[in-house]
Amino acid sequence: MRETDKPIRLRRAVASSETAREINRDILLHTIHLHQPVSRADLARLTGLQPSTVSVIIGQLIDEGWVLPGELGRLPRGRRPTFVTLNDQHVTLAIDLRPGNANLAVVDINGKILGRDVAIFEVQEDSTAKARAAIKHIAGAARALKMAYGDRLFHGLGVSVSGRVDQKTHRLLFSPNAPWTQIDLHGELEKALEIPIKMENAANACLFSERWFGNFGDASNMIVVSVSEGVGTGLLVDGRVVRGRDDMAGEFGHMPMEETGPVCGCGNVGCWEAFASNRAGLRYYHELAPDRAIATFQELIGLAQAGDMRALRAIDKMATYLARGLTMLSAGLAPEVIIVVGDCTALWSRIHPLLESQLIAKSFTPYSPRVVAAVDGDVARLRGAAALVLHNVLFRREDFAPRHPQEDQILAHAAAGAR
Ligand SMILES: [Zn+2]
Repeated sequence: MRETDKPIRLRRAVASSETAREINRDILLHTIHLHQPVSRADLARLTGLQPSTVSVIIGQLIDEGWVLPGELGRLPRGRRPTFVTLNDQHVTLAIDLRPGNANLAVVDINGKILGRDVAIFEVQEDSTAKARAAIKHIAGAARALKMAYGDRLFHGLGVSVSGRVDQKTHRLLFSPNAPWTQIDLHGELEKALEIPIKMENAANACLFSERWFGNFGDASNMIVVSVSEGVGTGLLVDGRVVRGRDDMAGEFGHMPMEETGPVCGCGNVGCWEAFASNRAGLRYYHELAPDRAIATFQELIGLAQAGDMRALRAIDKMATYLARGLTMLSAGLAPEVIIVVGDCTALWSRIHPLLESQLIAKSFTPYSPRVVAAVDGDVARLRGAAALVLHNVLFRREDFAPRHPQEDQILAHAAAGAR
């Protein structure tokens, strides 16, 4: 054996034990998140880790302040175990940025929304000054919200936007329905608030939220479809977020659905979002009811909920186009679950059968994905923004890196125990 072999071997051994420790730490945090309050013995049982390993890592997590030793458990006899929970002192600011307003919230480590505010502003696609003024206004509201929870530990600000964000440069690359591309949104917010910022496309943010706080955290193939002024998708394929060149993947809203049609925000005609977005729903209503002017999609929802037949037909037409796009995505990506986020989910009892029947009818295998509505579109996008920050501060490993083979089993085991 040559002398030079030794250090190489040593380095490998160190790297692999560090990786194992980090994986175990992440598994334990994830399991506490699912089962809290939970005892160390139950954590060992749920994760398959050695009780001694669990004790050491939990000790470190308590020292670091991520985990709290809680109340004593009650057992018929023997030692009373201490339950541990995630320390909900850890919070983040979250902003869901829309074209004319921003929803703001303080969200704790468990996804609980502690406080909320809305900042309304005026924007114009070609006015840099108005975009800057809007940022100033939003930053003021964010500062006030942060002050109101001054006793908590803030880890940063998560921002969810309709456009696509290059994760290396933080630049908003593509945002056809909003005026943010003309300014350095990330830089201006960071300067105004002086905290670390994670900014992501709203549909991708909702993927993180589902993974963190939702019911489908164990699905490896998932599509989030965000329906608002446009249609955006977040794609989880084989356990990884699909990013594409410059983080541009997911713009299925601009796949050509028809040869003709209204001009889309991207400049083309016939895009899916020109037929399936809130704007399309409003257009269908105006075609059916030229005598009645309504300005917002919320009004359309209200009319539909009150039983207005023209409003219901407009919603049905929008949902029919939504279904057509979903069948294409489903055929191409084979998701286990499709999660719809948006105001239209207020009419889920009407939309869902339409989407589901099309997915079943057009499926060429006996399987079709489950299609579900995010509980509340606003909350989903805010929690998504928070999850961007929390995922980064809590989990050592980047993004959705390929999991340890054993981890899938362990997570599946842990999730089964949670049900
Ligand atoms: Zn388009």
